[in-house]
Amino acid sequence: DAAHASPLLAHLNEEQLAAVTLPAGHALILAGAGSGKTRVLTTRIAWLLQTGQATPGSIMAVTFTNKAAKEMLARLSAMLPYNVRGMWIGTFHGLCNRMLRAHYQAAGLPQAFQILDTQDQLSAIKRLCKQFNVDDERFPPKQLMYFIAGCKEEGKRPGDIEAIDPDTKKKVEIYQLYEEQCRREGVVDFGELMLRSYELLRDDVHLRQHYQRRFQHILVDEFQDTNKLQYQWLKQLAGNEVGGRYASSSSVIAVGDDDQSIYAFRGARVGNMADFIREFEVRQQIKLEQNYRSYSNILDCANALISHNSNRLGKNLRTTQGPGEPVRIYEAPSDLAEASWMVDEIKQLVKNDGFTRQEIAVLYRSNAQSRVIESALFNAAIPYRVYGGLRFFERAEIKHALAYLRLLENPHDDTSFMRVVNFPARGIGARTIELLQDAARSSGCSLSDAVTAVGGSAGTKLQGFVAQIDVLREQTQGRTLREIIETVEEQSGLIEHYRNEKEGADRIENLQELVTAAESFVTQEGFGRDAVALPLDEQQGASLLNQSPVSQGLDSNLPLLDEALKPPVGTVASMVNADTGETLSPLQAFLVHAALEAGDNQAQAGQDAVQLMTVHASKGLEFDAVFIGGVEEGLFPHENAMMDRGGLEEERRLAYVAITRARQRLYLSHSQTRMLHGQTRYNVKSRFFDELPEEALKWITPRQSGFGTFAPNSGAYGAYGAKGSEQFGSNSGWGGKSEVFASPPVPQQKAQPSHGIKAGLKVFHNKFGEGKVLAVEGTGDDARAQVSFGRHGTKWLALSIAKLTVVD
Ligand code: ATP
Ligand code: MG
Repeated sequence: DAAHASPLLAHLNEEQLAAVTLPAGHALILAGAGSGKTRVLTTRIAWLLQTGQATPGSIMAVTFTNKAAKEMLARLSAMLPYNVRGMWIGTFHGLCNRMLRAHYQAAGLPQAFQILDTQDQLSAIKRLCKQFNVDDERFPPKQLMYFIAGCKEEGKRPGDIEAIDPDTKKKVEIYQLYEEQCRREGVVDFGELMLRSYELLRDDVHLRQHYQRRFQHILVDEFQDTNKLQYQWLKQLAGNEVGGRYASSSSVIAVGDDDQSIYAFRGARVGNMADFIREFEVRQQIKLEQNYRSYSNILDCANALISHNSNRLGKNLRTTQGPGEPVRIYEAPSDLAEASWMVDEIKQLVKNDGFTRQEIAVLYRSNAQSRVIESALFNAAIPYRVYGGLRFFERAEIKHALAYLRLLENPHDDTSFMRVVNFPARGIGARTIELLQDAARSSGCSLSDAVTAVGGSAGTKLQGFVAQIDVLREQTQGRTLREIIETVEEQSGLIEHYRNEKEGADRIENLQELVTAAESFVTQEGFGRDAVALPLDEQQGASLLNQSPVSQGLDSNLPLLDEALKPPVGTVASMVNADTGETLSPLQAFLVHAALEAGDNQAQAGQDAVQLMTVHASKGLEFDAVFIGGVEEGLFPHENAMMDRGGLEEERRLAYVAITRARQRLYLSHSQTRMLHGQTRYNVKSRFFDELPEEALKWITPRQSGFGTFAPNSGAYGAYGAKGSEQFGSNSGWGGKSEVFASPPVPQQKAQPSHGIKAGLKVFHNKFGEGKVLAVEGTGDDARAQVSFGRHGTKWLALSIAKLTVVD
């Protein structure tokens, strides 16, 4: 039978086997966490290829994150004997970007269109509002951004929106202006990638038919979190609607878990599952009920928790693995103590239990929680990597460097122009910028083109800037990515600027890190030096691929894919084989990468590092050990979600996702006090704890009382107290103050102690020497300061303990 026919299938259970070997046709696989949904998708792709039922070019698979796509490619390349990098496997955004790159002309985009990330988008909207005197109290730019993103997710252009009330009318008007601005500058935001690609398929019948014929197998992971537009996009690719039905020759296999739907706030529709069944007349539905990921204590927690939700499609999960270790629950007196406990546990896991760091994850509900954990890991010299949050590519100095690089590619990118026209300072003031913007607006051109319209010395300075960019473009012509970035960082004056800045050393390091990032991008993506110096005819060959796929006969022989499957070393293949772009220069490809990819530069690539991320970002992933911090009322479930039942159920699904990431060990913690957004909060433990089965748990701090165990030198606090480190100093006194453990502390307003420490002051510390105070937060014994100590790095110090003296 089939299982014997291919070793690929040897380890599957019966339902999995049925799913992997489904005959052509649409199907839905609905199953709980860790039941092998993603594995089934991956194995099916491998099986289709291996049995010759499909060619690499006929498959498209959509995953939820870049990380998941990479993982799928890694698993595939382990199963298959050839290079799988050219396959259409990626996120919705990644695949849309790829399609738009290949058909930029048809999509009405410049070849080197740039992608605006959320921050760029916000600043573009702010710029627009200023230009058109929009009242930013009545129309806060952030709200406008959400409005525009929401419209795009619904597939709506300004003209499609019926606006009756004046507020909506105004918003639509701004949406319209924003679109014009983006068009002028040759930039697209994330929502636009999706919408533009959808419209391209909808409106260009040749293109649509090409892709419909091409993608015979469409596989979608995490289907429960697709939004309306994504579903419409899939429908375009799946086949022509005939009498309301999608009776096409292609097979769409959707895989999902309603209990893991956690993106409703971004427009995700669980309802897409029901629509899919109806509209595609899905006859094949498969359930997977065996969980292969977790020990039963962990699974029991997940099952018990999610059973408290009411709107469920109903699935069961069982495991044949034993109970494993109990789920450990820790109650900390403060967020710092919580982080310190995590660090101690992580050390033990690595040292005594043989866990590798990258198989340990720390998850949190809210990004703001990461800083304290990061700082504890940093001080304990444990390498870690943060996914999401403040990304490397979002740091100011990096954005400046990227802005220069973007201007080399596209001088009409006004967002980048604005960012660096006076950075480093060139004596170009706000007044001059205003004049320039007026000139650009009245002649409908880019800022760069408008510089000649500004007279006087202001005009001369502006022209100087544009000339400087032109010179840089000349200088870097035909150079390697590394050389380009180094030249730009030097010649733009950025390095010089930060060299003169007192605290600029870190920033210079980051700028150097950008070169490293580019270097490793080049090696990973195969954009070698040779790729830049291609012989002309080969370059033409590459760019031919960019033209209409129909006229190029892409339909029949798919040269694009065949090229992509060649080894990717410095050949044309490498030019067309980036994850994200088809015929981009290395610099263009790198800029796309910077916009699309979450940076992870806290630990060097490949280094064994603890993984930090939000629960949202952890979807689909798994780790040997998982820590979930801040399981407190108001934080998890989040206060913003507790107003209605729907919100609470989404929080519970989020907790279900978090718990089910763990294979062997699971640790939950909550803290009595927590510093968030500069304020001390007194939280009680989450209601979710009451929904877990007691038999599976081990409370490693007494729940009610019994604080006797917390004598300064015993247990977790013993180690902690012994450290006596002022870096966690706000807690080092806690061992003695046992009343704190008896019940949640009563918020007490202590007299404001005047440590005399303020941001901006220069201070002296016995061990770390001179430093500069970056921030101060909290009051009384909780007060702490963030101090940058040059060589010793940046540290958070408890002011009630650390001896800091103010200098000058
Ligand atoms: P999630 O809902 O969290 O995305 P999932 O349903 O996609 O989970 P997978 O990630 O595919 O689950 O599988 C979970 C783990 O179980 C993986 O490590 C996978 O390799 C393993 N696994 C799946 N099926 C089997 C099997 N038949 N035999 C052994 N291990 C399996
Ligand atoms: Mg999965």
